[in-house]
Amino acid sequence: MGKLKVVVDRTLCEGIGVCVPEAPKYIVLDKKHKAVILKPGKDKDEIFKEVLEKKRQEEILDLTVDEEEDIFRAAEACPVKAIFIYDPETGEQLYP
Ligand code: SF4
Repeated sequence: MGKLKVVVDRTLCEGIGVCVPEAPKYIVLDKKHKAVILKPGKDKDEIFKEVLEKKRQEEILDLTVDEEEDIFRAAEACPVKAIFIYDPETGEQLYP
């Protein structure tokens, strides 16, 4: 298990959705067609409500190695680079 801080810049996100199939457990689109990060244990509808008017969403996720890879693949798939990944402990930007 590792932790990543995942940020979606909702001003950059164009709702293309190619990130979603790479990490469907963690990334979905909302009714504004913006990517939303899901956090296991946190109510999905609550998250949607929280982020609807926000410019960015950030979540710290506990991930397995496979899930970490999924998150990186999702970020890499995004053509407008709206998904950012950080090491939550050091603050180091890991992607892009
Ligand atoms: S691929 Fe990028 S632009 Fe498309 S929904 Fe995902 S974050 Fe948004």
